[in-house]
Amino acid sequence: MIEVRGQGLHSGRDALVRLHPSEGPVRFRVSGQEFRPLASMVQDTTRCTVIGSKGLRVATVEHLLAALFLKNFWYGLVVEVEGPELPILDGSAQEWLALLERFQPQPVTLVGLGEPVRIAKNGGEVSAEPADEFTLAVTVAFPHPKIGYQSFASPPETLSSVATARTFGFLKDLEALRSQGLAHGASLDNTLVFSENSFLNPPRFPDEPVRHKALDFLGDLYLAGAPFAGRFTVHRGSHRLHLELAKVLELRAGERLASKAG
Ligand SMILES: [Zn+2]
Repeated sequence: MIEVRGQGLHSGRDALVRLHPSEGPVRFRVSGQEFRPLASMVQDTTRCTVIGSKGLRVATVEHLLAALFLKNFWYGLVVEVEGPELPILDGSAQEWLALLERFQPQPVTLVGLGEPVRIAKNGGEVSAEPADEFTLAVTVAFPHPKIGYQSFASPPETLSSVATARTFGFLKDLEALRSQGLAHGASLDNTLVFSENSFLNPPRFPDEPVRHKALDFLGDLYLAGAPFAGRFTVHRGSHRLHLELAKVLELRAGERLASKAG
């Protein structure tokens, strides 16, 4: 068992996470109750992904889920959480990834996508097309001199290069976010902060924002509940849009498993 403590990005509150090796699919455990991280368990998508069950909620699960995705870790772990939100740590997934190194995931095979999926809303778009392996291409467009249009594309071998990309935000949004109860734990230690024309802390890579969007997408896609093969593309994604795709795929994952069992 491994313990991690830290502050939540939005609540600003401390949380304790225990990772336990365990038989069966990856589950969260809150107040003694267990539930699987699935799109159907999502409670909120405002600035982070919140999952839960029967009044229990855990916020900002996407970076740990992205690390699980990158490790292809679907069975053999329970994530016990005390607190309202997972620790933001350094704002990326690298610490989660390092912690998961100490567990051995069970091998799993990719699930076929079936029919292509395309969801477009409010200027954003996510799509998935059948392919033999998993590939991802992400683009973002922000009217900011240090971001603008950025694109990231990766075959499976180099996908983990997104793990160190941090959460980013704009200084001008901070007050409004805090008045909505968000970003109370945001600091220069866990967030790449953009000022009006520049940044307050240096980016780890020039394209850190698009890489972080790719990371968030992987975390949200994990909520499909199974590793899908496919050519995935995201343009101007959001947790909400990512989750719409994950919901479609969660249903397909269920059908695939049912047809195998039948
Ligand atoms: Zn994120």
